[in-house]
Amino acid sequence: MAKEETTAITPTRAEDYAEWYQQIIRAADLAESSPVRGCMVIKPWGYTLWENIQREMDAMFKATGHRNAYFPLFIPKSFLEKEAEHVQGFAKECAVVTHYRLIQDEKGELVVDPEARLEEPLIVRPTSETIIGEMFAKWVQSYRDLPLLINQWCNVVRWELRTRMFLRTAEFLWQEGHTAHETAEEAMEETRKMLDVYRDFSEDYLAVPVIRGRKTESERFPGADETFTIEAMMQDRKALQAGTSHFLGQNFAKASGIKFQSQAGTEEYAWTTSWGTSTRMIGGVIMTHSDDNGFVVPPRVAPAHVVVLPILRDDSRQKVLDYVAEIAAELRRTFYGNRPVEVEVDSRDIRGGQKKWDWVKKGIPIRLEIGPRDVDSGVVSFARRDQAVNQTQAVPRAELAATVARVLEEIQAGLLAKAKEFRAQHMRPIGDWNEFTGFFTAKNADKPEIHGGFAVSPWCGSADCETKVKEQLKVTIRCIPLDEVPDGGFDRCVVCGGEKKETAIFAKNY
Ligand SMILES: [Zn+2]
Repeated sequence: MAKEETTAITPTRAEDYAEWYQQIIRAADLAESSPVRGCMVIKPWGYTLWENIQREMDAMFKATGHRNAYFPLFIPKSFLEKEAEHVQGFAKECAVVTHYRLIQDEKGELVVDPEARLEEPLIVRPTSETIIGEMFAKWVQSYRDLPLLINQWCNVVRWELRTRMFLRTAEFLWQEGHTAHETAEEAMEETRKMLDVYRDFSEDYLAVPVIRGRKTESERFPGADETFTIEAMMQDRKALQAGTSHFLGQNFAKASGIKFQSQAGTEEYAWTTSWGTSTRMIGGVIMTHSDDNGFVVPPRVAPAHVVVLPILRDDSRQKVLDYVAEIAAELRRTFYGNRPVEVEVDSRDIRGGQKKWDWVKKGIPIRLEIGPRDVDSGVVSFARRDQAVNQTQAVPRAELAATVARVLEEIQAGLLAKAKEFRAQHMRPIGDWNEFTGFFTAKNADKPEIHGGFAVSPWCGSADCETKVKEQLKVTIRCIPLDEVPDGGFDRCVVCGGEKKETAIFAKNY
C-alpha cells in the first residue's frame, strides 16, 4: 500500500514512457485492443471524452459557417486514381473490398464466392477528398454556389502495421472538413482560419499548447499545395501533430471537375481545402497531462467532473446516501461553462482506498468523500486531481457548488500553464550542428526516449538536409512556425552551413 501511495501506475513515465502510456489507457479504462489487429475498442470513459471533444469542436465549425454531411465509406478505385500524388500517398495503406458475398463450400466452411467479384474494387476511405470532390462537381455550377463549406464526422481506415492506441490505429474516428471557393485567396483564408480553430480548441479545451506552422514539401498531405499543422510537445518531449489544414489549390478541383461560371462569365476551376483532427487528440491529452498516478483530463472535456464517494457503514448508511443524493442533485443543477456539472456517485461496496484510487486513475477532476461525520457537520471532504492524492479540505456544503465551478476552472487553467511551462523548458534555439546532435542524442543508452525536445534551428530549405537529420537522428522538421518562437537569429543552416532560408522546428515525433 505504501508503494501504491507514491505511484499508482507501473512503470512510471521516467522508467518506460511507452509502456506507461499503455498502462494509463488500461488503468483509466479508456480503450482496449480488439480481436481485429490494429483496431481498438473505445470504452465509455474514452468515448464520452471523444463525444465532448466532438460537441465542442462541432459548435466551433458551425460558428464559422460549416455544415455537416455524410459521404460513403467506400470509394471506387478509379476515384483515388484521379489525383496522381494523392493515390501515391495512400496506395500503400488501403483496405480494398473486392467481393460482396460469402458462400458455404462442400465442407460447410464459409468462403468468398468467386462469382461475386466486384467489377471495380472499392477502397475503404482513408480520407474523402475524391468522393466529396465528385459530389462537389455536381453541386457547384456558378460562383453563387460558393463557398461550399462542409464537414463530415466519420471513421477512416489506413492499414497500419505498427499501431498504438489513439495515436496510430488502422481504423480511427475523425472529422474532415472540405470546402470549395471562388479564389485562391479565399481558399487560403479558409485553410488558415481552420488552423486557428484547431489551435483555439486545443489550447482552450484540451489545455494542450500548440505551435502553428507550415509543413515542408516532404511532409505535405499528398495532393496539397500547402499543409499547415498544429504541433504539441508531449511529456517525453516528442512532437505530436494534433491537426492539419490543407490548401489544395486547384489540384482536386481539376481531378474531380469542380468547375463554376465566374462573375465575369468565364468557366473556372474552384479552389479547395481540407482539414482534419482525430481521436489522436486523445493520445495527446493523455501524454500532455497524465502523471504516475493515472490519467489527468482537462475539465472542459472530462467525461465527468465530480465523483462522490460515500463512506458507508451499517448504522449510518441511509443518512449518508440521502445526503449524497442531495449534493449530487445540487451539483447537477450547477453550470460549468455551457454545460451542467457531470457527477458520478460511486456506492459500490468495495474498500474506500481502492475506490479512491480507481477514480484517481480515471483522472476525474474532483473527488468528494462523504461519511457520517461530514453529514453531521454539514461539510464535504474535497480533493482535486491536480493536487497530492491525500490532500483534502473540508468544504461547507453551502459553498460546495461555487467551489466546484471555481476549482474546475483553476484546474483547466493550471493544466495549460503547466504544459506551456514544460514546453518552454524544452524548446531552444540551436544554430550549431554539434549542439544539435547532442540535443537529440539519448543521455542514457537504456532510455532512448530522453532527448532534448524542440530545436528551433536555421534551415537552408534543401530536402537533403531534412533527409540527413531524419536518417542520423530520427528527427524531422515539424513545421516552419507561424507563431513566434525563440529563434536565436542564426543565419546559416544548422545541418550544412548553407544560407538560411527558413527557421524550422526540429523534433522527434509520433
Ligand atoms: Zn542545409
